[in-house]
Amino acid sequence: TQLNKEWLQEYVDDWVRFYRKHTSAGKVADYIPMLKEANPDHLGITIIGSNGTKIRSGDVDIPFTIQSISKVISFIVACMERGVGYMLDRVDVEPTGEAFNSIMHLEMRQVKKPFNPFVNAGAITVTSMLPGKTSDEKLEPMFQLLEEMLGYRPSLNVDVYESERDSSMRNRAIGYYLLETGFLESDLNITLETYFKQCSIEITVDDLALIGLILANDGADPKTQQEIIPRQVARIAKALMLTCGMYDASGKFATYVGVPAKSGVSGGIIAVAPPRVRDESLPFINGCGIGVFGPSLDEKGNSVAGIRLLRHIASQWDLSIF
Ligand code: GLU
Repeated sequence: TQLNKEWLQEYVDDWVRFYRKHTSAGKVADYIPMLKEANPDHLGITIIGSNGTKIRSGDVDIPFTIQSISKVISFIVACMERGVGYMLDRVDVEPTGEAFNSIMHLEMRQVKKPFNPFVNAGAITVTSMLPGKTSDEKLEPMFQLLEEMLGYRPSLNVDVYESERDSSMRNRAIGYYLLETGFLESDLNITLETYFKQCSIEITVDDLALIGLILANDGADPKTQQEIIPRQVARIAKALMLTCGMYDASGKFATYVGVPAKSGVSGGIIAVAPPRVRDESLPFINGCGIGVFGPSLDEKGNSVAGIRLLRHIASQWDLSIF
């Protein structure tokens, strides 16, 4: 039996209302001054199923910067532009167990390549591998992919970009370390400018849900089944999301929620629920994409209410890939 949309809508509304109270358990990111402006009480979610069912609840119309979720897009684009083999030779695919901006682990094990594309060292390396001489040239294929997936071209939040550019000493330190060790393939300043800009692309939970749905569908447009992202690249992106997507809480997220996901410091989470072959009466049995926004973060940097909401929905609807 098909669960009707009204029921699903009421169900999600109830739980958004419930978990909104949990936002007080965290706080908004403050290491980038502009991010401090976010309203900690916001919580919103969009779920889009492969059959087109769309559930939107809570603060769904607040645009926010994509931040670390851009690392999924830049990695996908780099694989499409440079080839999967090329990228995997130069950036590893192992979780670090360290914070996203850790410097320590870079030196500690005399690594031959950054651990994975979702920690800053790996992400900055990936960005240096995007073709183009200027930051705008490097960003162009990312914008093109986003436009193809979303049906519109998102824009930069210039205030957030400038705020990060003028405050991110840690990322500059990582950049210099990468330069010294020979990982970077482009000029350091251009690479960092590109990285700060890609983090400042403004999106909504609807956008995240749509991208999530395309990834759930192995990179193909859910309506036309036309390839947007090569299947192999989509699969690698999802494997990385599962193992490294939720900072150093990725193991817990995989255990308690069980779907590929990626979070960012502005409070966004993209989650990907592939089709399942169990009980036909489960909602979204053919897969769905989920976008969450909740700027109040836990100590690992993940949306505190967002994670709890996802965990609840995933367990109730049996979304786990395991
Ligand atoms: N702009 C952020 C930074 O590098 C992205 C961090 C994040 O969302 O985790 O530091």
